This record gives sequence, C-alpha cells and structure tokens, in this order.
Amino acid sequence: MKLTVLGCCGPYPAAGGACSGYLLEEDGYRVLIDCGNGVLSRLQQHLKSWELEAVLLSHLHFDHTADLMVLRYALDYARARGLRLRPLPLYSPSEPASEFRRLLYKELFEPVPISAGETLSLGPFFLTFLETIHSLPCLAMRIETEKGVLVYSGDTEYFDGLAGFAAGADLFLCEANFQEEDMAQSPANHLSAAGAARLAARAGVSRLLLTHFHPERQLALSLEEARKNFAAAELAQEGESYRVAR
Ligand SMILES: [Zn+2]
Repeated sequence: MKLTVLGCCGPYPAAGGACSGYLLEEDGYRVLIDCGNGVLSRLQQHLKSWELEAVLLSHLHFDHTADLMVLRYALDYARARGLRLRPLPLYSPSEPASEFRRLLYKELFEPVPISAGETLSLGPFFLTFLETIHSLPCLAMRIETEKGVLVYSGDTEYFDGLAGFAAGADLFLCEANFQEEDMAQSPANHLSAAGAARLAARAGVSRLLLTHFHPERQLALSLEEARKNFAAAELAQEGESYRVAR
C-alpha cells in the first residue's frame, strides 16, 4: 500500500498548504480518503480526479470535504466528454443528512452510507470502521491488504477503544490537532500529539504518522511532545508518500 499525504492541516490550511486528504494506492487501485480544501489541486499531481476508484470520507466537516464541491465539476467535465461514465462511489457517514445531500450533484457521485461495525471490500482493500468521539459522526478506518495494515483515526478525542482498533497496525495515521498547552484548557473533539502517541504505544503499531495539524502551531513542539510517548513518531509531510507494509 502506498499512502500519499495531499493535505494534513485542519481546521484550515497553513499558507500554501491543504486540509485533510490522502491518496491510497495498491496494485493500480486508487482511492482518495477525505477531500479537504486544497486536496484536488494536489491530487492532480498524481492522476486525473475521474480516474479514482472511490472516495472515502471520515466525516462531513468542511476541512475533510470542501474540495468535493469542486471535484464534482471535474467529474461533470469528464462525463460530458466520455472520460468517465459511471458515478464516483462516495463512501461516507450519512449524517448530518443535509450535509451529505449537499455533496451530491447531477448523479456524479454514487453515495454509499457507511457506519461503524460495517465491513467493506474495495479492490485490494478490506475496511472496517469505528465511531470516534467528535462533534459530528466520524469514523476511524482500518484498511488491510495482504501486505499491510493502515489505520486512520479521522477526527477524535482520546478514547481507549481507538488503541484496540489500531492494534498492530503497520502505519497509524493519527490526528494531532492539539498540543499539551491546549489540553490544559479542557479541549474537545481532537487529540493532542502526546495523546496520539499514547494511543500508538498502547496499540503496538509499527509506525505513527501524526496529521491534522493546526496551522498556528509549531510542529517541532508537537513532535517533541509525541516522542515522549512514542519514540518513532513522525510528522506527516504534504506531498510525501509512505509505504505501508509489514
Ligand atoms: Zn472534524
């Protein structure tokens, strides 16, 4: 599995950056996980958007969905020219229903609601989902192939169940929106870098890739705080690709 980080900011991008978006590839099968603002531009450095097999959304906050509102224009262009005739499957939590409906346009997407506890086979990928603790319904994803296991946290507060869900992952892509300083002010909805690292240690993952960085934070401090709990923690880098393998 090859994971390419297209955007790793939230809830708004840093200068020149992009919000959440990850291209996942195996055996020529390509899916996009989340599609925040700035992601479509980066995606096209790798493929035409209509060449994707599917889009998967962790949840319906705009920093994970905004570029779907323009991706549909690319799909419309592709359909009109016969470049892609079938709708692009869009796997997503279906709540809030008004937000889910708003993404759908001219039947360019094939909406497929997903929820916790479901399993899904997509090409070479086998997926399971876990509900996280966030202000909207949000799903963490465990994505397995014959060659490796990737777990993506989505957006979430700390909870022990996420460590169980991520157990033994070859790569744990985990949000780290906050720093320890924020945690002193009873924050909600997100993890700190240290919290992500504690989960990684409990889960016994091989590799921790921190993501969903607040654009005003010093990332060197996030990394330092994470490494006190998981020495091999790394910061996701936009444009970089990571091999997910045993
Ligand atoms: Zn969110």
